[in-house]
Amino acid sequence: MGSTSFLESVSENFDRVATLLELPSGLAEKIKVANSTYIVRFGVRLRGGLQTFTGYRSVHSEHFEPVKGGIRYAPQADQDEVEALAALMTYKCALMEIPFGGSKGALAINPREWEPEELERITRRFTQELAKRSLISPSQNVPAPDMGTSAREMAWMADEYRRLNPTDLNAWACVTGKPLGKGGIAGRTEATGRGVQYALQDFFRHEKDVAKSGLSATLADKRIIVQGLGNVGYHAALFLSQEDGARITHVLERGGTVINADGIDIMSLGKHMLETGGIADFPGFTENGAEMLEAEADILIPAAMEGVIDEQNAPRIRTPLIIEAANGPITAGGDASLRDRGIIIIPDLYANAGGVTVSYFEWIKNLTHIRFGRMQRRQSENQFQALIHGIEAMTGKEFPQTQHDTVVSGATEIDLVRSGLEDTMRGAYDTISEVWNTDSRVPDLRTAAMLIAVGRVAHSYTSLGI
Ligand code: NAD
Repeated sequence: MGSTSFLESVSENFDRVATLLELPSGLAEKIKVANSTYIVRFGVRLRGGLQTFTGYRSVHSEHFEPVKGGIRYAPQADQDEVEALAALMTYKCALMEIPFGGSKGALAINPREWEPEELERITRRFTQELAKRSLISPSQNVPAPDMGTSAREMAWMADEYRRLNPTDLNAWACVTGKPLGKGGIAGRTEATGRGVQYALQDFFRHEKDVAKSGLSATLADKRIIVQGLGNVGYHAALFLSQEDGARITHVLERGGTVINADGIDIMSLGKHMLETGGIADFPGFTENGAEMLEAEADILIPAAMEGVIDEQNAPRIRTPLIIEAANGPITAGGDASLRDRGIIIIPDLYANAGGVTVSYFEWIKNLTHIRFGRMQRRQSENQFQALIHGIEAMTGKEFPQTQHDTVVSGATEIDLVRSGLEDTMRGAYDTISEVWNTDSRVPDLRTAAMLIAVGRVAHSYTSLGI
């Protein structure tokens, strides 16, 4: 961890754009600080004794409600960290045009030390504490999974909230990232990794931006280092290697690194991790740790945790392009050092926004109580079928069978989710790139993204006359 804390790094980035936007100091301060942070210590009777746990939920900005942000289970979680993450959520939602304020939560716990039934009891107790203060609620505060939590924890939370609010018709919308059979949406589990893939595709669609990195024109065959093969890292690595022809040459995980210059089989490595709990013994395994972030490759994807690149190791990073799949993986000091060396960084508030984007779709699905595509799918199939019949009648030729199914098939929920996600990622990248390339005061993509996001939040306050 570098000398600048995560919260200080987020605040420094904010201050830079507040100056560029010439925000009045009172308004800048109002936007910058967290509105509230709730810390709760609660007891759960486990293993023959009373165990005390510390939980957090920070609300950064309520300029839109509900506020939104994940809940992580991590032993080192503290107030500064959740406040930094909550602030990032405000900027992320504003950048992606998602009508939510920013929030984040954490439980200071190592989930690996507890059995699933124990974790369930702890999670349900935590949910009760949050519900008491409307820190979980479909209309006010909607958590989601983050580090150390998954669809399973969200199902427990939603179930507990429903028990406490049996007449709330929209109770399922109290959290997102739920399992499909419990009010979830197709494509949420993969969403953040999928978004990272779309973000890289978008970068490579912009010739000027690629030229600044010195990389060749396409994603195909690029050598990629991934740190953290959890939810985000696994899906990003899988899609980039399977669908874009990129080579994942290094995977850094707890305990070591898997290296394969020809490209690691990510699905096999994922299976190996599920079966054995780690990456040891997988072909290409070495005990080398964080220093492998400095290996030679084209793209670096930190997808584990914050603060892994700071002013100490930044001068040794060799990839011309870094995409921040994790939140805050580069400290402000690390960022300045990389920027000075011309290394391009696709910033977290854009790069990992796929998760909250699809969470937004899930929340809408829960409020409308209907699966996306259910009303239109067959109708559009019939319409395209009729069009094909018309073309065949006009030309006297049979429509090519190879294209028939693609043209006719109506969109399923996963098709619509991916389409909505891709559109949101593309639109946001176009806007960020435009600012980067046209505003001479903007040195990098992070400043461009923050400038857009903070400008929108400020506008929302000034529209109220604040
Ligand atoms: P996760 O718990 O599923 O995965 C994290 C992975 O990183 C684990 O496999 C863990 O073993 C590994 N790891 C931890 N410390 C490491 C280290 N020092 N070196 C190498 N590997 C290490 O978490 P996740 O949900 O994938 O989240 C990862 C990051 O992405 C976090 O910063 C999180 O805030 C961010 N994020 C997640 C989502 C989401 O939808 N899950 C959305 C946006 C941002």
